[in-house]
Amino acid sequence: MSERSAHRDLGMGRRIPRRDFLNGLAIGITGALASRNGRAVASSAGRIDTQPAAPGALYPPARTGLRGNYPAAVRDFDAMQAGAYRQFPAVVDTGENYDLAIVGGGISGLAAAHFWRRALGTGQRILILDNHDDFGGHAKRNELAYQGRTFVGYGGTMGIATPYPYSYTAKRLVEELGIQVERNAEFQNRDAFQALNLGPGVFFDKEHFGEDRVVPGNGRIPWPDFFAKAPLSEAVRKDLIRVHGQNADYMAGMSVEHKLATLATISWQDFLVKYAKVHPDAILFFRGQGGRNNKRVDTTPALEAAQRGSVGFNGLGLPPRGEGFREASYTFHFPDGNASLARLLVNRLIPSAFSAPNLTMDTIVQARPDYAKLDAAGSATRVRLSSTVVRVQHDGDVERARSVRIGYLRDGKMHAVRASNVVLACNNALIGVLMPELPAEQKEALAYPAKVPMMYNNVLVRRWTSFAHLGVSNVSSPCMLHTGTSLDPGSTVGSYRGVTTPDEPIIVHMTSNPNKPGLPRKDQNRAGAEQLLSTTFEQFELEIRRHLAAMLGPAGFDPAADIVGLTVNRWPYGYAYTYDTLADPDVPPEHRPHVIGRRRFGHVTIANADAGAAAFTNQAIDEAHRAVEELLVKNGLT
Ligand SMILES: Cc1cc2nc3c(=O)[nH]c(=O)nc-3n(C[C@H](O)[C@H](O)[C@H](O)COP(=O)(O)OP(=O)(O)OC[C@H]3O[C@@H](n4cnc5c(N)ncnc54)[C@H](O)[C@@H]3O)c2cc1C
Repeated sequence: MSERSAHRDLGMGRRIPRRDFLNGLAIGITGALASRNGRAVASSAGRIDTQPAAPGALYPPARTGLRGNYPAAVRDFDAMQAGAYRQFPAVVDTGENYDLAIVGGGISGLAAAHFWRRALGTGQRILILDNHDDFGGHAKRNELAYQGRTFVGYGGTMGIATPYPYSYTAKRLVEELGIQVERNAEFQNRDAFQALNLGPGVFFDKEHFGEDRVVPGNGRIPWPDFFAKAPLSEAVRKDLIRVHGQNADYMAGMSVEHKLATLATISWQDFLVKYAKVHPDAILFFRGQGGRNNKRVDTTPALEAAQRGSVGFNGLGLPPRGEGFREASYTFHFPDGNASLARLLVNRLIPSAFSAPNLTMDTIVQARPDYAKLDAAGSATRVRLSSTVVRVQHDGDVERARSVRIGYLRDGKMHAVRASNVVLACNNALIGVLMPELPAEQKEALAYPAKVPMMYNNVLVRRWTSFAHLGVSNVSSPCMLHTGTSLDPGSTVGSYRGVTTPDEPIIVHMTSNPNKPGLPRKDQNRAGAEQLLSTTFEQFELEIRRHLAAMLGPAGFDPAADIVGLTVNRWPYGYAYTYDTLADPDVPPEHRPHVIGRRRFGHVTIANADAGAAAFTNQAIDEAHRAVEELLVKNGLT
């Protein structure tokens, strides 16, 4: 079969809403994307540009195609990194003056505005600038429509959950917004899967395992039964069954202290191959698994894997593990993830942008903010979207200056505003570029992390009978670009209705953490980010269609007919970087790069999850609180 007809069978020619009009051809082939390694970008654009705009294209959550850190939002980052704005650029001065300007409209930036108003009153003049066309940062809402029904999904941050208890500060914010996390079960809508007895499965793909086959039941049926159904060689099967059972002491002869010290310096993969002596081919099964911060089997320290209860360690006689979700930790998620949390914050900051003030956890999911009112001249707090800040500079000497000038690009023009106080709630990696006058040690510390690249892609399918037929609700594909595929039934909340039966359309949520096995972790993150920035929407679409066809085709899935919507949320600038024993030096907490990097500089403080070296919503909130407190203390207001 020719490549062309193969593509047609996969549905590549189908007219699904795949790219919004504003974010179309011109944007798709310019800037950062086009400048990277010359990979095909224009090939997709001609055809896609002929597609009609997605319905509701002007309403950011309803925009489909390439979202997340979409090309236009980040196209100026390369020039910034290259030093194009070292000198404060010539600008159109807006003449606007603010009490507080915030760079970054993610959870951290929005929370900073909330804390500032809580301390100094709602009359304070605040401006939040963000480079995207929607607020919330990673907390991204996707809407996909089909036959008159709208399906709401999360394109980034899913839940209010962390392995640690929320701080008093973060907890209080969640409660102030009226979110009752104890209602989680009611919000999750898992009954349909339970009724059909659906659960996890693993997709063994032909390229890596010699055959395309979904095997359901991992973790639910005895491992020997599970691996018996998998396409594996006898040697690999035997080893996988062995390490998934009661293990021998693979480090026999070492003291517990020696074992712990050794495990801290080797990867989980090295432990499996060198100590547990599994067949090297068995590692393919573990490829998609790893530890915190989306680490992989080859980048997760064996000690962390052992403490998480991962496979291979239960015969070592190590002290009981202390990890996992502890009491007082939250578990909760809205259909659009923490986008609802961001919306509740904006509803409090700018009530006039919503139909009513003080919306609740039951009404926020169906609320539709009026984006034209987010930046209204008469509003004390304003959110200015599609505005990339390129330079932040004190007016004069940092010790004596009374204000800060902020230069930003919007609609291709350079503008400037002034503010008495500034919170940088954007990515750490750019802060040294925004303020080249920062001390060298601080800039070096800010440049230390490598954010974790990720994709949270939402595929709307017109029915999920193929999943039901296979007995799976979520499938891991260890060696594919998308390692996770799960049905996202949404929930019935307020007037929004979740999905309950397999003949209804549903969002299939596909996750990916592009990486390059074998390299050190930070290099893997950088390689993955580069991959995301240089891959076109059409290439992602083709990959997704091929993946779903190979995985679900035998159970009746037809990608050409069944896929009726697609939003790719690429996050080259994803999770904040966290430290571990394998990749980072062991230094006292106060010498950690994020601590040095977040020092106040004159009227400017630094928030965002990077400043906490932890990739969680609560951290973004805590860092916002600290950054605001630092300014209040500096101004003698506490
Ligand atoms: C795919 C994904 C899933 C996640 N899931 C969860 C989860 O389930 N639970 C959880 O607790 N955490 C999760 N996280 C982590 C969580 O989203 C973050 O820790 C938190 O939301 C970060 O908030 P932030 O405001 O610090 O950063 P961001 O959300 O990154 O917001 C910063 C904003 O500043 C903007 N910005 C950057 N530079 C500039 C500039 N020069 N000018 C203007 N604007 C700029 C950025 O583009 C962005 O919009 C997830 C993250 C990702 C990527």
